[in-house]
Amino acid sequence: MAETIYDVAIIGGGPGGYTAAIRAAEYGLKAALIESTAKLGGTCLHVGCIPTKALLFNAEIWDHVNHAAEYGIGGIGTPALDWAAVLNRKNAVIAKHVKGLEFLMKKHKIATVPGYGRLTGPAHDGVHSVEITGAAGEISQIKAKNVVVATGSEAKMLPGLAPGERILTNIEILSLPLPPKSLIVIGAGAVGMEFSSIFRSFGAEVTIVEFLPRVVPVEDEEISKELTRLFKKRGIDVNTGAKVEMVEQTETGVKVSWTDANGRPQAKEAEKVLVAVGRAPRTGDVGLEKTKVELDRGFVNVNEAQETAEPGVFAIGDIVAGLPQLAHVGAMSGMVAAAKIAGRKFRPIRRDRIPGCTYTEPQIGSVGLTETQAKEKGYEVKMGKFPFAGNSKATILGSHDGFVKIVADAKYGEILGVHIIGPQATELIAEAVAVLELEGTVEEMMFTIHAHPTLAESLLDAYGAVEGMAINA
Ligand SMILES: Cc1cc2nc3c(=O)[nH]c(=O)nc-3n(C[C@H](O)[C@H](O)[C@H](O)COP(=O)(O)OP(=O)(O)OC[C@H]3O[C@@H](n4cnc5c(N)ncnc54)[C@H](O)[C@@H]3O)c2cc1C
Repeated sequence: MAETIYDVAIIGGGPGGYTAAIRAAEYGLKAALIESTAKLGGTCLHVGCIPTKALLFNAEIWDHVNHAAEYGIGGIGTPALDWAAVLNRKNAVIAKHVKGLEFLMKKHKIATVPGYGRLTGPAHDGVHSVEITGAAGEISQIKAKNVVVATGSEAKMLPGLAPGERILTNIEILSLPLPPKSLIVIGAGAVGMEFSSIFRSFGAEVTIVEFLPRVVPVEDEEISKELTRLFKKRGIDVNTGAKVEMVEQTETGVKVSWTDANGRPQAKEAEKVLVAVGRAPRTGDVGLEKTKVELDRGFVNVNEAQETAEPGVFAIGDIVAGLPQLAHVGAMSGMVAAAKIAGRKFRPIRRDRIPGCTYTEPQIGSVGLTETQAKEKGYEVKMGKFPFAGNSKATILGSHDGFVKIVADAKYGEILGVHIIGPQATELIAEAVAVLELEGTVEEMMFTIHAHPTLAESLLDAYGAVEGMAINA
């Protein structure tokens, strides 16, 4: 029988890879999806976006239950946490979506190939060979006209440390037998802040140690400031400008020593430490060195169609240089690559139109330029800010902290950035993404009707605030 030559072989079954495979099949291409672990879904589904958001939802319910009396609900007594049930629910959510992905692969007639994939070099007569190493070490090959590399990333460790029972990455911390009584989190990006939020809700004493001068450093400065304030209000010890000097295991836990922002030595002991200092691209062992693919500190350089320097080889998701490591970026880069391979129209990813969400309590949702970035780009900027304290739905929810901040161009009124911290910020940001995509102006949005009473009305007030004309503040 003639050997199958796929239109595209995708290495890695995370949100980048499986989205590329589905979209390729929707375009009528013959696609193969290679995954080295037993299940599709990648970091996002198994040890990233989905389990963390499941636990954050449990934490939110727990927080509400503990304040049930404020909402007129009595008879609850002292709520008890069934941690095993919490973990079971998280695992059930994951399992449901693994099944969903398996169904989608069948539906789209995508060949799922178990095993570890490596490129063998450039294409011969327009056909690439990908070597597959199976679970038992057996070697096979598949052939494809195009290859999409979507191998994702893994947690970076501090030098000399290895993850274990007390020193944790995003993987170990998701299966702890019990919530820790105390936790030190090294790194205050989205991952570190989300785990801090979860375990603080479940009663842990949480200490954050961040090297940079502020938490969530990619966000607008005012957002970082507000999150720090609100985390401190929740009893979280936030240390920024802090350089970790040593992490040592003790008899009862882990001791972290650091130099604080004033150059003074500090130390704290906790039951567990989470290292959340960024994620390294998995590009070291995929055969890229046998091709012309260019790397920049391990990340793959691509053009606006996600093509690498090697003809017929694409890169998407967390391994791409210059893009934030987010599941929706992985998925969209997969859709762009699939469109290019199919010879269809696509819109390249625009760095300044990618929403960033942090699902802490309170949440953050942002898109576009921060105030500083807009000024650095030479815009004359106008700002509008509206606090959730003036929003009636926020009052109903009992969630008044935070604000919406609009960054606009003073000359034409174009909205350049929207930064939200507060209730449902990660849902509210969708409107702002559409506004930026459609190059909306402050005037257009000031006359766009927002339903009442909704949290989204805080956006309407914030657009008005750019012209000094918020209604509710
Ligand atoms: C704790 C945490 C929370 C997060 N929360 C969010 C969030 O809320 N929202 C968000 O947008 N992003 C979030 N992220 C980031 C998100 O998980 C990643 O951006 C996303 O998973 C990247 O997708 P990917 O397809 O590039 O790679 P991955 O999801 O890492 O998938 C890569 C896949 O490739 C497989 N693989 C690797 N090498 C090979 C090989 N040679 N052969 C075959 N298979 C291989 C791996 O087993 C894996 O299944 C979070 C990350 C973490 C760690």
